[in-house]
Amino acid sequence: MFKRILIANRGEIALRVIRAAKALGIETVCVYSTADKAGPWIEQADRAVCIGPGPSPESYLRIDRIIAAAEVTHADAIHPGYGFLSENAHFAEVCRDSGFEFIGPSPEAMALLGDKVSCKKLARSVGTPVFPGTENAIDDIEDAVKVAEEIGYPVIVKATAGGGGRGMRVARDAAQLRTGIESARQEAAAAFGNGAVYIEKFLENARHFEVQTIGDKHGNAVHLFERDCSSQRRHQKLVEEAPAPGVDPAKRMKVCESAASLIASAKYSGAATVEFLMDAKQNFYMLEVNTRVQVEHPVTEMITGVDIVREQIMVAAGKPLSFKQADIKVNGHAIECRINAEDPDRGFMPQAGLIESFSAPGGLGVRLDSHARAGYRIPPNYDSMIGKLIVHGPTREIAIARMKVALGEFKIGPLKTTIPLHLKLMANPDFQNATFDIHYVERLLKAQDAARASGSTSKSGSAAGAESRA
Ligand code: ADP
Repeated sequence: MFKRILIANRGEIALRVIRAAKALGIETVCVYSTADKAGPWIEQADRAVCIGPGPSPESYLRIDRIIAAAEVTHADAIHPGYGFLSENAHFAEVCRDSGFEFIGPSPEAMALLGDKVSCKKLARSVGTPVFPGTENAIDDIEDAVKVAEEIGYPVIVKATAGGGGRGMRVARDAAQLRTGIESARQEAAAAFGNGAVYIEKFLENARHFEVQTIGDKHGNAVHLFERDCSSQRRHQKLVEEAPAPGVDPAKRMKVCESAASLIASAKYSGAATVEFLMDAKQNFYMLEVNTRVQVEHPVTEMITGVDIVREQIMVAAGKPLSFKQADIKVNGHAIECRINAEDPDRGFMPQAGLIESFSAPGGLGVRLDSHARAGYRIPPNYDSMIGKLIVHGPTREIAIARMKVALGEFKIGPLKTTIPLHLKLMANPDFQNATFDIHYVERLLKAQDAARASGSTSKSGSAAGAESRA
């Protein structure tokens, strides 16, 4: 087993890895930027090394500095968390070549599943359902127009190296497709250094369904069932839950099993999430595979009892998975709300600055994964998520009720957060009845804005004006 793990990340996920490592008797090293020098999670690590200034290209994305920190602290493994370098196959390779175990898949498996076109090909070959579309990256725009005519509009142009919703364009006719391919190529080249794009059928009203999988270095691969993450704004998830409500049990089992087959066929070790969209008839189409631990992994932990981060560490150290597929049972229902320091009433503007008061919720079935506390100053450099509130209960109804209570107890001041929005979502009939799709949050926000604008027409330049400034 490892003696010391370096964590190439920050915030709540750094704390999550520290906790799992400590419980295994493993020491931890945090690397941090100068903007994070007072980060509360750093106190929990055994050692800490500053790797540069606030902007992440100068610190959390500097492979050379992270490797140097691992060398001077004699770490034997590196956990990448999520975001930053976690899906960078070159980083995984440099870790391996420098003698550090990368806590994640091999660079080969990561590259295979991380490229959307090669991943889709493999998925097709093992029977994981995928969207109809081009088999390869587009060379000739007119070939893409032919494929679009075959599968029917609307279609979506996507970057093969895509991530974070960038390099995507929806096209409803051939003219839009031609300009969409050009602009997606430019955006992808600028964002990923790779301008390759492909097209697939665009689904208008879908739910987001994703399967948690995990493999080891002995050829075992299992799924830990699924999560529904349909509550999104601008492709960013806000609420996640497990299991996915209202899905036909036979269809659900089939798609979960196909996700495990996919990672097995990639000889994948570590945690991976296979993401799907599900249409109203409960047909599934794979979106992509995320080759790392996800923000929303706790809901799966709550319903299966598996400590996913512990298991990631164990399999990286060469141990076989500590369970078999048949051991995994679903117990109850779990929901996670992402608590972001953003102002939902002002266009979700990020709120950097001092947290003066922080009163955390608690009680049966309540879990808070957060690096924040009173006195912590949120730096402006990174994403605005300051914690995840997770509840577990025997049924979905009880989980929703517990979430409402926990959100009501949770007080953070003076910064604005997404807590009031989550309270609205928990009371929303579409959420409560699971009659939602990935656009329902945006529809709700739009209706709210419209109501506010019409209520304040006499005070021109007040609410509506502030909205557009934000
Ligand atoms: P990224 O890697 O950039 O996050 P994804 O492939 O995961 O890209 O897609 C991000 C989001 O874009 C999805 O959650 C969904 O909302 C939307 N999307 C992607 N592909 C499709 C599609 N074929 N039909 C409908 N929506 C899509």
